[in-house]
This record gives sequence, structure tokens and C-alpha cells, in this order.
Amino acid sequence: MENKSAINILVLDDESFMLKLLGRMLANLGYTAVSTCDNGHAALALFDRPNDSPNLILLDLNMPEMDGLEFVRHLVERHYIGSLLLVSGEDERMQQAAEKLARAHKITVLGHLHKPASAQGLAELIGKWAAPSKNEPRAQRKVYGADELRAAIANGELVNYYQPKVRADSGRVMGVETLVRWRHPQDGMVFPDQFISVAEAHGLIDNLTRAVLTNALAQAKLWQNAGLTLIVAVNLSMDNLASPDFADFVVGLAAKAGVLPQTMALEVTESRLMEDLRIPLEILTRLRLKRFLLSIDDFGTGNSSMAQLRDLPFDELKIDQSFVHGAWNNEKLRAMFDSSLGLTKQLGMESVAEGVEDQADWDFVRQRGCDIAQGYFVARPMPAADLPAWIQSWQRGFAASN
Ligand code: C2E
Ligand code: CA
Ligand code: CA
Repeated sequence: MENKSAINILVLDDESFMLKLLGRMLANLGYTAVSTCDNGHAALALFDRPNDSPNLILLDLNMPEMDGLEFVRHLVERHYIGSLLLVSGEDERMQQAAEKLARAHKITVLGHLHKPASAQGLAELIGKWAAPSKNEPRAQRKVYGADELRAAIANGELVNYYQPKVRADSGRVMGVETLVRWRHPQDGMVFPDQFISVAEAHGLIDNLTRAVLTNALAQAKLWQNAGLTLIVAVNLSMDNLASPDFADFVVGLAAKAGVLPQTMALEVTESRLMEDLRIPLEILTRLRLKRFLLSIDDFGTGNSSMAQLRDLPFDELKIDQSFVHGAWNNEKLRAMFDSSLGLTKQLGMESVAEGVEDQADWDFVRQRGCDIAQGYFVARPMPAADLPAWIQSWQRGFAASN
């Protein structure tokens, strides 16, 4: 049960009637710290007082001056780390689109309610509220400069975390995905969404990929020596695929580390596969010829055509987490999931469901016949040193429950 006085609620809606109604419902539910605003500008002023600024916002979408989506953009600029709950008269599709947009900005969205909201619906969603994340000390969102990042790469401040991937039918741990973090000396753990695009924009992405890949290869070698058979996946940026030398560069690093290419997978995100493909296609094809495995990441977020997919030599397709988590309970997501899975099978690729967050997601992807699962339900990304113990406890748990 959440601590009701710890939740500092802001209700933002242009209709004063709604403000009164929601204010009364919240009071009846026992929430004492509630403020209301009828326009975005007034609401944003509340964030200038960091000590008691809101950590839960009930947001209307359709407002005359600053609409709800614009307001979300301002929240992102202010590094808002609280939660959001949409309360609007818009239809289901629109509400889901708005939720998705806010999540894309890494804002925690508790859900949405259609007006007029019921007290029960409100209570249920607010019940999901959690104090802004303290478990993994995530650094405050901040924009890093190119020089700072360049120095961090050179000083070895980037560390790899590894998230397990398991076969959905047998539970066998088949591999890990490498996810880079920046162990910042002052700011703590900084996540890739705060520096990958900086690296891409300032010509540092090849340096970054070299650091990640070098560490991942060294780690793969250690696991191999310890008798752990794992496919180690590394994320590439499309910007890595700009120069034909990149294939030789990867081949060279693997050879130097003494790691077989067929135990490494390279992930490329789908949303960028529509760009001019001549050089990337050549590089990817050469890497495939050298036996590296190729994986399409975030499938469903771009709009690659059937022809493009057919022409690219991929081994694996990762269905984006936005079509996995909660798909069991949502017809539209389920349709996207099923068609991605069908496509994967027709093209003879392995399917991976990303974002398997809970038991219901896990049961769903197994029942649908997806090959591989990845997500918080299986395990969160972890330092390499934690992996062997995790594998042991996972296998014990899996054996006990099957
Ligand atoms: P991605 O490749 O799609 O990686 C999956 C992201 O989803 C990771 O976020 C992971 O921690 C998170 N995740 C895993 N399971 C779940 C789940 O069940 N639920 C939810 N909600 N999230 C889950 P992370 O580590 O913050 O990485 C974000 C993105 O940064 C990655 O997305 C990838 O595109 C990029 N990235 C990470 N490492 C590298 C890298 O070394 N090079 C490049 N170019 N990009 C990287
Ligand atoms: Ca990935
Ligand atoms: Ca992904």
C-alpha cells in the first residue's frame, strides 16, 4: 500500500468542473496533498519549487492553450521523474498513443482513464504509484557534452551490463544482450538513452562501439573458458555501418579476442533500416558471411517492407517490447505481436519477445510459440559477475515450476 501523504498530486484540466470532481474524489480516497491547475503554464510554475513539486500528475489531453502532449514535452525538459496518469475524453487509440509517447520519453505512466473517471478506477491506478525510483540509482536526466563523453570512453568509464535471453519452451539460457552503462564519477549510473545519441551526433559512436565490443568479447571469452555456452549480442548503431571498414574492424576484434563469430550476435534497430541501405547492407552481409549472427531490434517500431526484410540476411527478429508487455490483455498489441511472429516464422528467423515483464507476459509468449524471451520477468540487466549465480537460481526455479 502506498503512503498517501508521500504522493504530491497535481490535477491539470481546463474544465473547472473536472478539477472539482477529481479533487473531491482524491480527497475521499485519502490523498491530502493535491493541487489543481486549469492551464499548463500555471502547472509548470509548480516545478520551480523542487521541494514540494508534484510527483503524480493527472493530465487532461485536450486543453485549449497548451495541450497535454505539449505539457509532457515540458515535463521532459524539466527532467520530471514522477508519474503520469491520463484522464481525458479522447478515445482509446488516442489515449494509448499519448501513453506511448510519454513512455518513449521515459516518463512513468500509470495508465489512462476515460472521463468521467470512476473513483474505483482512480484508486486502482494510483495504487500503482511508486516513489521515484530508488532501487537502481538512476542518474537524473541530464544532457552530456561530447568532450565529457569522449573522456569517459577513453577513461574506461563505460561498463557492460548483460541481460539474459532464454528459450521460451525449455527455459534454457541461450545468450545475453550487452547493454552499456556509464559509471559516471559524480552522477552515478547513466543509462544509454542519455549518451548514445550524443555519441552518434558527435562522431564518437565508433569509439563507443569499439569499447563495448572489446569488453563484450573479453567477457565472452571468459564465459567460454568457464564452460558457459552463450550467444553474446551487442547493439550496433546504424552510424557504425557508414564505412565499409567496419566489417573488418569487427572481424579483427573478434579474432584478437579469440572468440568465434558464430557465438556473437549484432543487433541493428529496425527504425533505422529504411535509410540508404547500400553500404550498411554490404557491411551486414559481409559480417554474416564471416558467421556473425544478425538480429533486427525493436521490430514494429519502423516500417520496413517485406522486401527489405527478405533481402537482409538476418537470423533473429526481436519483437519490440511495446507489443509484448500487456499483449495478452490488449487486442491491438496482440495483433501486432502475432503478425510479427508469423513473419519471423515465414522468413525462417528466430523470434525474440522483448519486454517480458511479468508472469502473464511470460505465459503469453510461451503459449504463442515465440522462440526466445527477454525481460524483467526473466532478469534485469546485470554485471557479468552476477550471471553464473543467476543462471543457477533461474534453472532451479524453472525446474521447480515446470
Ligand atoms: P534495446 O536494445 O531495445 O535494449 C533493451 C532495453 O530495454 C534496455 O534498456 C533494457 O534494460 C530494457 N529492458 C529489458 N527488459 C525490459 C522489460 O521487461 N521491460 C522494460 N520496460 N524494459 C526492459 P537500456 O539498457 O536502458 O538500453 C536502452 C537502449 O540503448 C537499448 O535498447 C539500445 O538501443 C541502446 N543501447 C544500449 N547499449 C548500447 C550499445 O552498446 N550501443 C548502442 N549503439 N546502443 C546501445
Ligand atoms: Ca537491443
Ligand atoms: Ca529492443
